[in-house]
Amino acid sequence: MIADQIKAAVRDIPDFPKLGIIFKDITPILKDPSLCQGIVDAFAEKLADTKIDVIAGIESRGFLFGLMLAIKLGVPFVPVRKAGKLPYAIKQKVYELEYGTATIEMHTDAIEPGQYVLIHDDLLATGGTVTAASELIIELGGIISGFSFVIGLGFLNGKEKIEGLSDNIVVLAE
Ligand code: IMP
Repeated sequence: MIADQIKAAVRDIPDFPKLGIIFKDITPILKDPSLCQGIVDAFAEKLADTKIDVIAGIESRGFLFGLMLAIKLGVPFVPVRKAGKLPYAIKQKVYELEYGTATIEMHTDAIEPGQYVLIHDDLLATGGTVTAASELIIELGGIISGFSFVIGLGFLNGKEKIEGLSDNIVVLAE
């Protein structure tokens, strides 16, 4: 099963980036092309009935499988980036973190009004990042058609946070 293969490949790194956090390192997945292919195929299968005009990937690990899936489905990929990285006209969203705030940005022409957007990231933790991305995409005129994640940290209840935006949430390994 793909979930077991993902769990076997991911590395737990204690105390990264700070004390008390166990960081899920997905880089071993990227060294295994057949697992990468399996992940993209699993997403495509689970999203077969989802209307997707555009995939929005969250910086930076959301770019990896986000773009691979966009190529597989034959739809455009657009990046959701941290502040100051995008060169063209942007719209931004400031959102709350545990301590302080963070800012994400998208190009103003990333989404056409009325387009169905799948939001993709490598990992769902609290759901704060994809909630902010959803709000930005809605402000640009997009419709949230679902979310996809390689990994979900169930104990942080991210799914509960985002299911009001779309209940179409694909998590390959929890
Ligand atoms: P959230 O906003 O709390 O859901 O955090 C999700 C964001 O933080 C995603 O963009 C992830 O890439 C990143 N993230 C949080 N924890 C981890 C981890 O353990 N491994 C990899 N990425 C993580």
